[in-house]
Amino acid sequence: MQTGSCHCGTVRFEVDSGIEEYRRCNCSICRRKGAVMVTAKKEDFRIFAGEANLSLYQWNTNTARHYFCKTCGIYTHHWRRSAPQYGYNLGCIDGIDIEDYTEIPMRNGQSMSIVSDDE
Ligand SMILES: [Zn+2]
Repeated sequence: MQTGSCHCGTVRFEVDSGIEEYRRCNCSICRRKGAVMVTAKKEDFRIFAGEANLSLYQWNTNTARHYFCKTCGIYTHHWRRSAPQYGYNLGCIDGIDIEDYTEIPMRNGQSMSIVSDDE
């Protein structure tokens, strides 16, 4: 199991699965955010501290729910009911070396915007 947190440490989460499927995305929110996102199944992802300190941001068709810490502003995760699955911020995971992740696939989320329901 892995644990992760926002920058100020208020929001903490745990993930049962490993870092297997990760990507950046070129859609309008992800290109601004710049985070590397890891996919997790619904049952594998849990917020265990600071849930009340999360802000929710939704846009476009409101299918994806983007969460970030109210205090430090760090994106921790999002939920996509259309998948359904979580995506979480690789950089939030405790103890990883971000330099181990140099080959990062780019997802074409831009092509799904407006007409679709994606992040
Ligand atoms: Zn925070």
